[in-house]
Amino acid sequence: MPSPPAKSKHGSFVAGERVSVMLPLPLGAAYDYCVPAGLTLAAGDFVTVPLASRQISGVVWGAGEGRVAARKTKDVAARLDTPPLPKVSRRFVEWVARYTLCPAGAVLKMAMSVPAALHPPRPVTAYALAETPPEVRLTPARQRVIGVLSDGPPRPASELARAAGVGPSVVRGLAGAGVLVQRSLPRRTARAAPDWRNPGPTLSADQSTAARALKAMAAADAFAVTLLDGVPGSGKTEVYFEAVAETLGRGRQVLVMLPEIALGAQWMGRFRTRFGAAPAEWHSDLTPAQRRVTWRAVAEGRERIVVGARSALFLPFPDLGLIVIDEEHDAAFKQEEGVIYNARDMAVVRARLGEVPLVLASATPSLESFENARAGRYGTLHLPDRHAGASLPDVALIDMRSEAPSAGRWLSQTLLDAIRETLEAGEQAMLFLNRRGYAPLTLCRACGHRLQCPRCTAWLVEHRKVERLQCHHCGYTARLPRACPSCEAEGTLAACGPGVERLAEEVSEWFPDARQAVAASDTLTGPKAAADLVRGIEEHRVDVLIGTQIVAKGHHFPMLTLVGVVDADLGLAGGDLRAAERTYQLLYQVAGRAGRAERPGRVLVQTYMPESAVMRTLVSGERQSFLDAEAKDRRDAGMPPFGRLAAIVVSGRDESAVNEVARRLGRAAPRSDGIQVLGPAPASLALLRGRHRRRLLLKAGREVNVQAALRAWLNAAQVPRSVRVRVDVDPYSFL
Ligand code: ADP
Ligand code: ZN
Repeated sequence: MPSPPAKSKHGSFVAGERVSVMLPLPLGAAYDYCVPAGLTLAAGDFVTVPLASRQISGVVWGAGEGRVAARKTKDVAARLDTPPLPKVSRRFVEWVARYTLCPAGAVLKMAMSVPAALHPPRPVTAYALAETPPEVRLTPARQRVIGVLSDGPPRPASELARAAGVGPSVVRGLAGAGVLVQRSLPRRTARAAPDWRNPGPTLSADQSTAARALKAMAAADAFAVTLLDGVPGSGKTEVYFEAVAETLGRGRQVLVMLPEIALGAQWMGRFRTRFGAAPAEWHSDLTPAQRRVTWRAVAEGRERIVVGARSALFLPFPDLGLIVIDEEHDAAFKQEEGVIYNARDMAVVRARLGEVPLVLASATPSLESFENARAGRYGTLHLPDRHAGASLPDVALIDMRSEAPSAGRWLSQTLLDAIRETLEAGEQAMLFLNRRGYAPLTLCRACGHRLQCPRCTAWLVEHRKVERLQCHHCGYTARLPRACPSCEAEGTLAACGPGVERLAEEVSEWFPDARQAVAASDTLTGPKAAADLVRGIEEHRVDVLIGTQIVAKGHHFPMLTLVGVVDADLGLAGGDLRAAERTYQLLYQVAGRAGRAERPGRVLVQTYMPESAVMRTLVSGERQSFLDAEAKDRRDAGMPPFGRLAAIVVSGRDESAVNEVARRLGRAAPRSDGIQVLGPAPASLALLRGRHRRRLLLKAGREVNVQAALRAWLNAAQVPRSVRVRVDVDPYSFL
């Protein structure tokens, strides 16, 4: 039997000792490796190790466990020249893995998302004048190059050529002749650092009180969560900027998370105005080179402030001092693929592990956060008024049962009149419809056939601009057929229902002179398009903006005085636990776009359900009673946040195998106290991307250790390779 390796004293591992190395692969455990001669390792070090026939980078997780006979243990190949993954990041990886029931390696992969960043950037080759240059013929171009270098530092070839106004061949020629010599320069990362000393605006009394509290929290270096609950335009951003300044002033790192970073152009502008420089960004629209620079700068502690989407939570901050989550209620913080997690909830965990404060900002906090505040787990700060006395818009309902527009039209007379008045006053209007494309359904008038995605339980959505039918679930596209695929009648296919494109058509019919813009995730194809649109609205080159939820958030347009909600009931259908809460949040946010400056705004909401609690609350503004009623319903039903949920989705191409696994899971469901399992039942998307799907839902009391129950249940299940079983703890999507 091999003798267990001696444990090192100072948390370092020397030659001959064994370390366990976590690899960024969907593996449950770390693997043991030997420390080779000449190397000393510590927990957190990034290393490369052999795995099967390849070399792979991983992280030293701790001492080896000695399970494998020593002679079979391979050596660590090398230690990478990167700051170690901080201990708090390692504990965080473990915590997220345990909570989501994902392999720790899959979570680590999110923290190691930029493998290239594990290697220091290659130095830049620059040119300097040789000390004793040989005699060469000096053309005017060559003289200019020498002139640039004689009163400046060494420069890379391309930059040197540009500065001297010559072609690159001139520089090459001088180097070849020995007049210039090469020098290695460290790669510059010359980004101006935000200056926390820059003064902010003069705060109102409420704002100062909140800012003081947040600054004190930021200065305390301890775990605390504060809910910053303030109406749109109340200055939440200005207030949490004070906490950001405090933390930057203490030399620590700050992470601000936004739900849709690609639309954060205005936020970026605000940040730059306040701190004199841009923050680092972290989201899916970055180039690999940008990701590499930022990951490394964060790991080295040089980058002090990152604004990012949910994945930014896994950056290797060595000295994180504050986390802010703006629009904390937003479902975009839930990642639905791969490791399924809610970045807002995991941020609370990250803050606790790192003993740092967390600010959750929203005008419509989630029921979860309200409940945490009510129970005393979170502090709360209120900003009840809009800045500088701007009033909240008036909200009125339009009862579509008595004002239904004619067939193929979607705007009621009341809304049309309001648009006309707004345009005549030289102001802007926004129409909100949470549906992309031209029409959500295409139907054959002859036989009633509906065009459906061949791979999903979903209708195909017509996008007339690009002349395609699209599945919004799997991305399948097809041309609109001339004849009905079922009865082969020609010219009988009819578009049913509106999307934003169709609404735009109706607006141009009524208001041919109004300049309109459509904003949906497929028309705004990136941060630049989004920024251009925002500028277009700010500069009043748009009279009517027609958009999906992409326009609901955060923007501030002084001339936008009318918001029309075209179909307020859209989100209320379906069996979503949070349907009412989300519809309220979304419509309230949309309403908040109206009249944010001196001009008062108004909001008209078209609904067939004017008596519903959501609609009544939008008008009355009495949020508390709505929330109390929601909370009571959920408490009575044992639903989150008063109970726990986990969804299990069984999927595969072979329907009978999927059914079999789902049934077997149903039979083996845990039956202990406080746990109830519903299903299996076909998912609402019973077919998705050609995979059949069945769902089970585990419901448990708050006191139940859901993860332990799930682990025991799923470990016992036999699942053939062709079937996938995915766990979604705290599900947001019930499709
Ligand atoms: P919220 O985040 O609550 O929606 P913002 O922080 O975006 O509110 O503030 C709304 C608008 O009011 C912004 O243009 C902001 O610059 C401005 N504002 C807020 N507070 C002040 C203040 N104290 N002084 C000057 N402008 C302010
Ligand atoms: Zn599809």
